Order: sequence, then structure tokens, then C-alpha cells
Amino acid sequence: MRKVYTHAKLVTMATDVYASDGYSCQDNQSIAVEDGKIVALGHDAEVLDWPSQSLNGKLVTPGFIDSHTHLVFAGNRAGEFEQRLNGVPYQTIAAQGGGILSTVKATRAASEATLLELAVPRANALIRDGVTTIEIKSGYGLTLEDELKMLRVAKSIDQHLPVNVSTTLLAAHALPPEYRNDADSYIDFVCHTMIPAAAEQQLADAVDVFCENIAFSVEQAERVFAAANAHGLKIKAHTEQLSDLGGSVAAAKAGALSVDHIEYLSEADVQVLAEYDTVATLLPGAFYFLRETQQPPIAALRESRVPMALATDFNPGTSPFASLTLMMNMASTLFGLTPKENLYGVTRHAAQALGLSHKGQIAVGFDADLAVWDCETPAELSYMVATAPLLGRIVNGDWYDEQGVRG
Ligand SMILES: [Zn+2]
Repeated sequence: MRKVYTHAKLVTMATDVYASDGYSCQDNQSIAVEDGKIVALGHDAEVLDWPSQSLNGKLVTPGFIDSHTHLVFAGNRAGEFEQRLNGVPYQTIAAQGGGILSTVKATRAASEATLLELAVPRANALIRDGVTTIEIKSGYGLTLEDELKMLRVAKSIDQHLPVNVSTTLLAAHALPPEYRNDADSYIDFVCHTMIPAAAEQQLADAVDVFCENIAFSVEQAERVFAAANAHGLKIKAHTEQLSDLGGSVAAAKAGALSVDHIEYLSEADVQVLAEYDTVATLLPGAFYFLRETQQPPIAALRESRVPMALATDFNPGTSPFASLTLMMNMASTLFGLTPKENLYGVTRHAAQALGLSHKGQIAVGFDADLAVWDCETPAELSYMVATAPLLGRIVNGDWYDEQGVRG
């Protein structure tokens, strides 16, 4: 498959976010793609005698990458949301079987076909917002069979929609009821049975842990990281969301690609992320939905030049938002990120957070995953919400219109 896309206003993200001031937009550029890769840009692309398609001078960015979602699940928590707003205490809701374990119960009971049917429209919502790659975590099964079931569903989404999928085993998300008061035994099971099975069946690219007082300790997280490393899987971690336990430092030292949430990360520990080149993933949807007030250490992250990624954390309990452009707006309004930092956060830095070194930039040798926007400037992507500026996406070199229909 060979094609030249012409008349594009390119925002390449090919320079370090901290290295230059502007976006370095380039008008009237051509992009040659072959077998899903960008093979030439500019004049080198124009001289090729290949089939061509004009992008009409529109703004073209790398396809957006949502590097942190939990979009495979059954049931929803709208009833709980309503109860809380009617003044029912969280303890009462939890005692009635609410909270994360209600999602676990519904997900365990659902077939693969049902889970897929529920997941596809959620993935489609992300796609209509410019996404070309989605990371999807397990974590609502918490048994070997149900975690692998979630991963199989996640992995199959790319057979139903034009999108790339990256999968993460998050068996250490919550303590399953079967292991009540015995978290160490569950972690043994995760390390000795679940991680090896996910690796052997090639169902997961990475392993994640929720390291928090209400979930797993730093010591338990470190055992999971070691098992992931032993089986050749990448590492990601939910850390410092509700308190400062030191999970981010432990994850960085174990070679984690990213640490996610990090509202309670100390400024001193930001240095460690810089030292290990760990991505700091900000999740403003959960911050907003939980009405959190502790801000992530943005100034220190900038000072230390830590790459910041931005993701939806799409999940039924704490971030029911399937829109990366909404997250970009929230990152600016809640955390003070600039529109440029947001754009890096959903492209180049998101690719780094998934270890996808061939995605997230428009450059020769990179994957031909692009988003085409009805915008004059990149800042508009962070500014106005739900105005659907997406004109189309190029996924693995092929054109899809804003509805995801192949052209
Ligand atoms: Zn999450």
C-alpha cells in the first residue's frame, strides 16, 4: 500500500517539548506512506508518482494515543453516583456491594461477547476524538480466567475498529473477595500464575499495579514489578493518587515506562522520574470526578523536564469520560498545562508511556497514524470541547473519515 497525502499543515511533535517554544507548524506539506509507515515528507514525498489525496491545508497531528484506560467492563456505577449525591455515605454503598467490587462482579458474570459489545462503542467514542492507539487494562476480573478474558476482549477490539490496541495486565488492581485479609497470597498468585500465563499467551504488553493504602503496598508492588521483568513485560503503575507511599520511585527504579496519577508525588521524588526517564501520566478526569484538591507537582516536573502524558483513565468508578480532548481542556483548567504540553501528552509522551518508540510523531520511519482536524491552530484542540473538529484519521496508512469509515 503506497499513498501520498498532500496539502497538510503538519504539527510533527518531532522536537523535544522542552527544546523549543512553538509548535513548529509546517504548511502545505506532503506525507508519503508505504505499508503503514511514513517513508517520506515534504519535497521527497511530492516527487513520488503514487496515488495521492489532498488534506486541503488542514491541521494534521500524530494520531492521539490514550495511554491509560479501563474500557473493558460490564455494568456501570450511575446508581452509586446518584446515591452519593443524595447523601448516602460511601461506607454504606460499599457495604451494599458497591464500589469497584460491583464492577468486578458484573465483569466476571459477563461473556466475552458481551464485554466486547460493551467496549466497542466506548472505543469508538475515543476514535471520534482523534485516537489511533488505545491502551486497555484488565483489573475487573481478579481471577486468572477473568483477567485473561478481559485481555482477550481488549486485544480483539482492533479486529472490529480501525485502531491499534496495547494491553496491560492489572490483576493487582484490588484485592478480590476470595483473598480477603490475605493480600500477600493474592500477590503470590499474581506473580507466579497470572503474569506467567498472560506472558505465555501473549495477551499483555505490560503489567500495572495500584499501589495505595486501599490497594497494594510498595513491597507488594515491587514483587509484581520483578515478576513482570522476569517475564519480559513492560511496567506501569498507579501511584501517589491518594497518598505519598513511594510507589512512583519504586516503579521508576524497576524500569517502569510510566507512573500514573501522581497528585501526591513529592518534589524530591520528581528528580527520580527524571533520572530514570519515567513518564509522568496525568489523569485529570479522575482528579475532577473525585473532586481532588491536591495538585500534581507540575512546576517540578517541568523544572526536571519529565515527559508528561495525558490520558482519560476511562473507567466506571472514577473517570467516566471517553474523550481525550476533554482531558486536554481539564489539564489546562485544573493543572495549568499549556495546550502544547497537552498535545505532547496525547502523542509523543503517550507513545513513550507505552514504549511505542515508532508512534507519536510525524517523521520518516514512524507509523502512519495521523489525525486531521478542522482547526486553524493546535491550541483549539485544548480550548473548545465537544465541537467535533475531527475530519478524519489515517491509521496504519489508510484513510478513515470522522465516523471511522474507510475511504
Ligand atoms: Zn487507572
